[in-house]
Amino acid sequence: TTEQHKDKFASTCCYCGVGCGVTVSKEKNGTVTVEGDAAYPVNKGMLCSKGLNLQYTVNDKSDRLFYPQMRYSKSMPMQRVSWDEALQRTAAVFKTFIQKYGPESVAFYVSGQCLTEEYYVVNKLIKGFIGSNNIDTNSRLCMSSAVAGYKMALGEDSVPVSYDDIELADCFYVTGANPAWCHPILWRRVEAHKAANPGVKIIVVDPRVTDSAAIADLHLQLNPGTDVILNHAIGRVLIENGDIDLDFIQNHAEGFEAYKEVVFERTVAEAAELCGVREEDIRLAATYIGGAKGFISMWTMGLNQSAVGVDKNLSLLNLNLITGQIGKPGAGPFSLTGQPNAMGGREVGGLSNLLAAHRNLNNPLHREEVQKFWGGTTISEKPGLTATEMFEALNNGSLKAIWVICTNPLTSLPNVRLAEEGMKKAKFVVVQDISDKPETIRYADVVLPAAAWAEKEGTMTNSERRISHLAKVVDAPGEALPDAEIICRFAQKMGFRGFDFKNASEIYQEHAQLTAGTNIDITGLNYEVLQQKRSVQWPYTTGETGEGTARLFTDKTFYTPSTKAVIHPVPVAFRSEMPDNDFPLILTTGRIRDQWHTMSKTGKVNKLKKHISQAYLEIHPTDADLLKIGEGDVVVVASRRGDVRVKAKLSANIKRGVVFLPMHWGKILGNDLNRANNVTNDALDPISKEPDFKFCAVRVEKY
Ligand code: SF4
Repeated sequence: TTEQHKDKFASTCCYCGVGCGVTVSKEKNGTVTVEGDAAYPVNKGMLCSKGLNLQYTVNDKSDRLFYPQMRYSKSMPMQRVSWDEALQRTAAVFKTFIQKYGPESVAFYVSGQCLTEEYYVVNKLIKGFIGSNNIDTNSRLCMSSAVAGYKMALGEDSVPVSYDDIELADCFYVTGANPAWCHPILWRRVEAHKAANPGVKIIVVDPRVTDSAAIADLHLQLNPGTDVILNHAIGRVLIENGDIDLDFIQNHAEGFEAYKEVVFERTVAEAAELCGVREEDIRLAATYIGGAKGFISMWTMGLNQSAVGVDKNLSLLNLNLITGQIGKPGAGPFSLTGQPNAMGGREVGGLSNLLAAHRNLNNPLHREEVQKFWGGTTISEKPGLTATEMFEALNNGSLKAIWVICTNPLTSLPNVRLAEEGMKKAKFVVVQDISDKPETIRYADVVLPAAAWAEKEGTMTNSERRISHLAKVVDAPGEALPDAEIICRFAQKMGFRGFDFKNASEIYQEHAQLTAGTNIDITGLNYEVLQQKRSVQWPYTTGETGEGTARLFTDKTFYTPSTKAVIHPVPVAFRSEMPDNDFPLILTTGRIRDQWHTMSKTGKVNKLKKHISQAYLEIHPTDADLLKIGEGDVVVVASRRGDVRVKAKLSANIKRGVVFLPMHWGKILGNDLNRANNVTNDALDPISKEPDFKFCAVRVEKY
């Protein structure tokens, strides 16, 4: 393996869920260099612009936190303290709140960038020992609608396919995603496959003409929010054309008759009108899908980040189910994870409604199983607060203390000014981060310095269920510690047993044991196997010696009680804030190619600023004309919640009536005029509790 070579270490890129393998070399001066790992099955040596600049996250220490800091009142300046003092005081405050107001008065808000071991210990701490389920992660803002969709349709939060299915597919339906920018290396594989096989059909569904649409055979530029109508119309045409798999529908699925009734409620022409696309294009999409030997649907935030996100997911999964395009080569639904380890977090149960190894919090047997294993307190049956609910609870005073790890909520949460009010009202705030830049630090009582990528050891799981081991390459600067170690030290200060792990490997062992007998059983894994294999795909049961499980449901048996997949007759619902006279345009938000989330890492790299250096509003030239807005004019984008002031970028690539803001920028020198989430809506999907980032009503005016 790479790790056998002196000063070269095997790791995985810490940005998107593609999970590219990298080789990190430690130089004599203590800095690192990074290159793509040519032997790694995901990327075969390729890296995108973000991955190519990974070394800066380690080498540039200009914004790093070096030692713990604390203050006894918000009006006092932060003081450097020892780890012992910081954790002792935090434990004392947590104990006081828990005693006075109960265990639900404290919460942890963590990140899809945490390593699996970190997620595991914090989840164990709050659910198994503090006795509350108040742990949620920024994955709530990202994948929770997909999680709910998979569970409802397949019985388990489980991505059925592998990246290697890309080269075996001959039709891709890419919806609510711009992988050319957001999952670039995965998209390079799709592009190469299409170039080598021009007959491969690519359908892109997006209100914007994105770079991903450049290689599409068909771009359906739908009206925002009409995804369910479109998917149903395609389903209807597939049924009308006889392009469905009757054997699969009859023997391996349930719910088809009710689904058929729903999709036949609206003609294709009516659907086309509502979606703002041509009827013949809907029919063509269905013909491409119906004629495919291997059909892969791919999606991400355009479907997930919606007040009807679960409905959108289910309506898409239905297309794979009615065509029987699942559990066979080159076929299946494929959610593209936004963050590098959102999936690993779910594996340990790192959301407020989950338990370890995909167990369900509302199942008394599951709670008992986990409680016995941990030997702590009774696990509460009450779901904890989700991401946005935590900040609401700070606002209404029911949540007293919040501990924020490796995430930047005051840039990334919807309706963020409200979240900011919550942070102001919080009685006690702990911020655990690598950087001194997150806005949360202004509100912190205790600041804990964390080790960054390549400064700690652990594992992550990418979008295709691939678990990889990330080596520690260099020491963390100053007194910074790995996140898992910080949590374990704190748990011990709280007086809890079961947190005296000697290293990350021991944490992983415990996590693996807890998966025994579940659908994500990885009892055959430990660090030795992972280091030797470099990566494997779960499940990986005891005694397994191969590379893991490339494809799920090959025997057409699903994880539902009936073992059949469920085709849900999803109703067409709109829950978004609709445009009106005061706010006539629809705002959608998203990423740009060279920045990552809230830019705390990529924002430091000058090269990555060259592509797009500042926030902007994308608007159609005809809409701009009506508003007397020219290219580069400063405009105010206002919603019922707040406003931003950015330069206009006129583009015929966006649908009329729709405007786009990038989501990356937060406060700059105290000024929040670029922060898209001042404007976005915190309406939630009722099942997944994922916010409606992609749809709210706004007004645009020249400044
Ligand atoms: Fe990293 Fe994703 Fe780029 Fe791969 S595609 S190098 S995982 S950011």
